[in-house]
Amino acid sequence: MSTTAAATSRWTHQWKELHEEVISSGLCTGCAGCVVACPHEVIGYTHEEGHYKPFHLEDDLGPANCGHGEKGCTSCTRACPRFRSWEPDADMHLFGRTRNDDEMFGQYRSLLLCRATDPEVHEKGQDGGFVGAMLIWLMKHDYIDAALTSFLEGDGSSWKARPGLARTPAEVLASSGSRYTYSANTLAMKEAAEAGLQRLALVGMSCQSSVPPIMWTRKAGKVGKPFLFNIGLLCSKTFDDAIFEELFLAKYGLRKEEMVKMNIKGVFQIWMKDGSYHEIDLKECHQWTREGCKTCPDFAAEHADISTGGIGEDNAWTLCVVRTPLGEEVMNRMIADGSVEARPAETDATAMRLLKLLSTVSRRRWPATAHPAPVVGVPPPKKKADGTAPAAH
Ligand SMILES: Cc1cc2nc3c(=O)[nH]c(=O)nc-3n(C[C@H](O)[C@H](O)[C@H](O)COP(=O)(O)OP(=O)(O)OC[C@H]3O[C@@H](n4cnc5c(N)ncnc54)[C@H](O)[C@@H]3O)c2cc1C
Ligand code: SF4
Ligand code: SF4
Repeated sequence: MSTTAAATSRWTHQWKELHEEVISSGLCTGCAGCVVACPHEVIGYTHEEGHYKPFHLEDDLGPANCGHGEKGCTSCTRACPRFRSWEPDADMHLFGRTRNDDEMFGQYRSLLLCRATDPEVHEKGQDGGFVGAMLIWLMKHDYIDAALTSFLEGDGSSWKARPGLARTPAEVLASSGSRYTYSANTLAMKEAAEAGLQRLALVGMSCQSSVPPIMWTRKAGKVGKPFLFNIGLLCSKTFDDAIFEELFLAKYGLRKEEMVKMNIKGVFQIWMKDGSYHEIDLKECHQWTREGCKTCPDFAAEHADISTGGIGEDNAWTLCVVRTPLGEEVMNRMIADGSVEARPAETDATAMRLLKLLSTVSRRRWPATAHPAPVVGVPPPKKKADGTAPAAH
């Protein structure tokens, strides 16, 4: 199998191939890598319920072809982390080898449980506040001008997530916490470019964190240059925005305007302004899984500098998968200067078990018709005692 296709052969693939092989075939996550990479600005994107997918803005050749592509433009396929051999391509670029068959959660240097030592950063964070602490640290040490991250629209009561730019520690904290609907944070690149900001950290779910290395290895050009740090969020799915009205309100009477925090720990957890706490079975939420997540094989954000999650025994810590030398350098310096506390994650058996299990389960979603790399080494699901396969989660 060719692992460095873009480097070794002439890359001629354009929107036509992207549309056929990724968008129409159901592999598209909505990460918006192609949108920000298009030098002709002919790829549109609607950041709304039922969309979160790219589409062509010019109709001279129909929605499935591109006039610029016919003339040789290939930027969109060079930026797409679901096009053809994306996993080995990004692996080779970042780690110099493809993952071993048993490396279900990708390649890494260390596994740590971390928490921010600043009480406010910790408190505002979803888990240990590590992501917020790292962004603030990168700003204070003049590594980055801003971070591409996610905010809530307006006063937050709509729970509508939107991509945005955090330029100051206060803005980092305003964007802290997790929302479980989609936010294509890469789209905030436009705002960064307009403001002349060139040194950026990307925070994004697994699908988005493969965008920078794919752009670099396939030579997408200057669009890939501002990504200096890549912080991944472990992720098995996002939900349609409609889940608020159609499930949380309709069945449980929970108004989104009254919600203060949500989390997913085996169940969907919701905290309300009146102090009440509610748990909703994830099976009930299943039908609101966003379309773009249904074939996603990457739980562990395997191409980030550091991937972060909340699957430890203790919610007050962020599980950090430190993957690249750059991620390791920043992590070591943050620990050394006391910005974060850290302990080996191997001490948390639950976190270790879930990291491997959830990574394996996500890989099983990748279709057999697509490039085979993401499912290499993935064991079949264990049969239940009655001999049937367990239901997909
Ligand atoms: C949709 C989603 C699904 C996730 N699923 C899992 C999971 O299954 N298992 C697991 O262990 N961890 C999951 N995580 C990661 C977890 O919720 C925490 O984000 C992670 O542990 C970091 O915690 P923290 O306290 O260090 O981060 P914080 O300091 O709270 O920073 C979180 C960062 O995430 C950004 N963010 C929040 N919501 C979104 C969004 N919808 N889209 C893009 N960026 C966003 C924020 O803007 C902020 O920059 C998920 C996160 C998201 C957003
Ligand atoms: S996966 Fe991302 S880059 Fe690929 S087509 Fe979809 S939105 Fe574009
Ligand atoms: S499951 Fe998460 S990482 Fe995968 S496509 Fe959905 S949002 Fe992206």
